[in-house]
Amino acid sequence: MGIEPLQDYSRLCIHTMTTRPWAVEEAVAKYVAAGVGGITIWREALEGRSPEAVGRMARDAGLTIVSLCRGGFFAHSREEARRQAIDENRRAIDEAAALETPLLVIVCGADPDQSLETSRKQIRDGLGAILPQAEEAGVRLGIEPLHPMYADDRSAITTLKQANDMCAELQSDLVGVIVDVYHLWWDPDLEGEIRRAGREGSLAAFHICDWKTPTTDLLLDRGLMGEGCIPIRTIRGWVEDNGFTGFHEVEIFSKTYWESDQDEFLRQIMAAYLNHS
Ligand code: ZN
Repeated sequence: MGIEPLQDYSRLCIHTMTTRPWAVEEAVAKYVAAGVGGITIWREALEGRSPEAVGRMARDAGLTIVSLCRGGFFAHSREEARRQAIDENRRAIDEAAALETPLLVIVCGADPDQSLETSRKQIRDGLGAILPQAEEAGVRLGIEPLHPMYADDRSAITTLKQANDMCAELQSDLVGVIVDVYHLWWDPDLEGEIRRAGREGSLAAFHICDWKTPTTDLLLDRGLMGEGCIPIRTIRGWVEDNGFTGFHEVEIFSKTYWESDQDEFLRQIMAAYLNHS
């Protein structure tokens, strides 16, 4: 049962964005020294570097590269922007393949100039357009539903049900869904939709952090596990009882933590992971 407290760090993964002030080389060294098992690399962290070399460096240091963040943003009212998004996603798939990570996280996109239905249709078309390349590269596309507060310009997919539906439509083993507790904790259908994703073999990743009250910034005020009101351990129990055996990925965007001492922040993450995840 996933509801038991965690005993070790073998399934702990940290997103490079969580410790944003650290360059990817420093993040790798610090995570390994702390005993972290995995890393999710953000594309920003690869800037000016060869993804092959970064992948090799992280693996040689002992980390599993859980995923690349992120592709997506398929929804645009202008056709040219939609075409550019597809090209950008093709580059992201190439980077994921070069990193030798099996998963590309997809933040689907939305455009306030058009309806959410139209955006969702464009998302489906965009995913369909890049899917052959993903299949060829062996890179899975993980659809991550975002909290509805981002439905204006970040994601027209706001529930796990919508992500599961999109997955069912695309009918490929190389499309999955991502459960991020920050985005989905409020949803009364969450447990049932996690069960559905488990049944369909599409649970691709699990992201954790906490929801602070008050939240002072819609994007950059996520909390450390245990600092807020999300029943993280309960949700972890749901994903694990439905077959998920992957990493628990700490993804915290926080101006407050980024301005703090990152070594101390990492120590806090390690403690919060065992005590509250
Ligand atoms: Zn996430």
